[in-house]
Formats: sequence, structure tokens, C-alpha cells
Amino acid sequence: MQRRDFLLALAAGTAGCLTACTGVQAPRRAVTGSPQAHPPASPSSSPSPAPSPTPSLSPLHLQDGPPPLPAPTPADSLITGLPENVGNVVAITVDDGVDSSVVDAYLDFAKDSGVRLTFFVTGVYPSWTDNRDKMMPLVESGQVQLANHTWTHPDLTTLSEGAIIDELTRCENLLRNTYGVTGAPFIRPPYGSRSSFTDSVCTKAGYTTAALWYGSFGDSGLLTQDVLLGEAQKWLLAQHIVIGHANFPTITQLYGQIIDILRQRSLLTATLDDVYFGPGHNRHA
Ligand SMILES: [Zn+2]
Repeated sequence: MQRRDFLLALAAGTAGCLTACTGVQAPRRAVTGSPQAHPPASPSSSPSPAPSPTPSLSPLHLQDGPPPLPAPTPADSLITGLPENVGNVVAITVDDGVDSSVVDAYLDFAKDSGVRLTFFVTGVYPSWTDNRDKMMPLVESGQVQLANHTWTHPDLTTLSEGAIIDELTRCENLLRNTYGVTGAPFIRPPYGSRSSFTDSVCTKAGYTTAALWYGSFGDSGLLTQDVLLGEAQKWLLAQHIVIGHANFPTITQLYGQIIDILRQRSLLTATLDDVYFGPGHNRHA
């Protein structure tokens, strides 16, 4: 990231998970073209004697596998964006999981598009066990990464050391027991709220990188499609870590437009593991 971007990112980092990074100005890029609807592919009506060896691509299809990436370098103790040398790559991260049907829709989107997602799991929500069967193959392949967004989404700066450890450990145990992976080293502190004390406690629990962001869809609360799409157009840019939320269904009505934005900007997506541990990496616990 450029230094100016980094400073802006620090500002954005204080905005917190429940805000839409309002007040943070970023260079706007003109967006050409209009969002296009993507009707579902209709099956061919003519019988075919032999099945095609290659299934037809979804209209949402963007990428197969991880993007080309440079050799990974370990993540710093605080990240707000991706290293400059990743090129035209954006990390889409999805937090919380209040609505299980939204997590389910995100998984269908990932399967149809090849988009790589990092979920920051708030373990108390049933989404993360409800969707296990659909999630598991994507986690196994490394297309979907699971990281730690605590058990109950508290402001860590209000908690004792023991309470912070408990929040991290309960979520970590869920990830290990349900998916066989660790969320470490990536902790996203709820609301982006952290301090040297909370960072040191997280480090003791193996969470050595506070993963903040540079831009948000702003959809921790309910948004209209137009507002959410405006945020997506503002923030889906190279080397950004962008936040979405699996809390309200608005995003599930916009996947076609999200793909249009990525295509128009020649962006591919990566998980944090892809960037910091190597393409397709999957850290089994
Ligand atoms: Zn959150």
C-alpha cells in the first residue's frame, strides 16, 4: 500500500465493524458500465448422448483457484491491506454470521464464481455449524478460510486477560472441532477495537496478527442495495482488505454486480492464507 493509503487505512481501522468507514475519503475510481443481471444458466433442452466432460461455467464465474501471487511473507502484527506486490488482488473478508442463510448464499456464490473468501467467524452464531457440509469442501480446498472474530463479539478493550483468552479459545475450538483448521494467526477484533494490551493477550493465544481492513460494504446493519453497491464500488480495489457481513440478505442480491466490479477492474480475489502462507494454503489444526 502507498503510505497515504496506509494512513487512511489506520483511520479506517478505527471505524469499527459496526460502521461503514464513513468519513474516510479514498481515491474514487470511475466505474464504467452498468450492473448487469445474471440470470441463472438454463439447462439445454436438447438431449445430449454423452455428458460434457467440462461443466458449463456459471455466469458468475471469475477465477479458478488462487491468483498468481509472489512468494509469501509473514503477516505483520497489524494488517489493514495486502502487500503492494500482490498486484491486482483484493481480499474479501466476511464477518459475524448473524444470518445462517446469508452464509449459505455466500458459499453458493463462492462455488459459482471461484471467489476466495476469508470468513471472520463469530462462533456463537449457528451459521458456522448449520453450513458445515457445504463449507467443508471449500475449506479443504483453501478457497474459503476461517479466522477468529471471537465467540460473542465483545469489545476486547473492555475485557480482562482471562475473558479475552476465553473469547478466542471458544471460537478456535469451534473451528478445530468443526472444520479441523485453526483460525490463527488472524484475529479480527470486534469493532476494530484493540490496544497494546489486547494485542499482547491475543499473541499469547497464538493470534499474532490483528487483521483490520481498508474499506467496508458497511453491511453489519441492514442496507439498501444501492447503498451497499456504492460501498462496494468505493472499496473493491487492488490490495485492499474489504469487509462484508453475513448478517442481512442485501448482499445476496448483488453478487452479479460484485462480479461485474471485479471484472471491470481486472481484480482477482485471495484469502489471507493465500497471500501470507502461499496460494491454496490450508492450515489444518
Ligand atoms: Zn464483527
